Amino acid sequence: MRVVASAYSVAERAARIVRNVMDGGDLGIVEKTGANDLQTKADRLVQMSICASLARKFPKVTIIGEELVIWVDPLDGTKEYTEGLLDHVTVLIGIAYGGKAIAGVINQPYYNYEAGADAVLGRTIWGVLGIGAFGFQLTEAPAGKHIIVTTRSHGSTLVNDCISALNPDSVIRVGGAGNKIIQLIEGKASAYVFASPGCKKWDTCAPEAILHAVGGKITDIHGNSFQYNKEVKHMNSAGVLASLRNYEYYASRIPNNVKQSLVP
Ligand code: AMP
Ligand code: MG
Ligand code: MG
Repeated sequence: MRVVASAYSVAERAARIVRNVMDGGDLGIVEKTGANDLQTKADRLVQMSICASLARKFPKVTIIGEELVIWVDPLDGTKEYTEGLLDHVTVLIGIAYGGKAIAGVINQPYYNYEAGADAVLGRTIWGVLGIGAFGFQLTEAPAGKHIIVTTRSHGSTLVNDCISALNPDSVIRVGGAGNKIIQLIEGKASAYVFASPGCKKWDTCAPEAILHAVGGKITDIHGNSFQYNKEVKHMNSAGVLASLRNYEYYASRIPNNVKQSLVP
């Protein structure tokens, strides 16, 4: 709980940095690996701020007793941040124990940004397995409707084929893994489907803990659960499948050719 409490306040300071960099006008964008994999000054400053604070408070923060690992995405949805889609952006701090995501904090620095000058900007959502998740109103997606949320900027034929096979009523394309989990827990979407590599452990750890804390489920596209011990491969090579309710409905409809294309 001490780590969760620190992550909560550290994420709020991170959100202020995210807003300050945007207000400063120079995002300092760097292309990392090519296709839509961006880094800004906000990613760099937040990364330093979160890691330095947590390391100061918890000197063995990366691993305590070989078990506790904290997965940080300083800015999730960087592509959208650079394009002014500000409410897609989140700061993610995930806490894993024994390889399992047990707690998470998602700060959304620009929550409410279209609500006018008087609205309070930003919010912090947090959750602990076995306790619950807070900072939002848990809402189920409309019953009987299949609303799929997926990537906005990292699409592919496979990503689209997989979604088509689920016969969706509608498809929402937004940035960020954190933001997509928010769509699930606030009833905007019924499943997060991403049949592609690209998403990393720091994208899924905090969202997983929060989703699991409210009874949802997230796995790769094969149904394998994610591991978060420090030795684990960072890339979620076999994609992401998540939902708050009816996970089995979506899992049972992922086509075999999609599964064969994505090696865990
Ligand atoms: P998206 O749904 O495209 O916003 O992706 C969710 C997270 O996974 C973000 O942090 C992205 O940067 C990352 N991601 C997904 N696909 C890729 C990719 N093809 N290359 C780099 N990062 C990716
Ligand atoms: Mg990310
Ligand atoms: Mg990031």
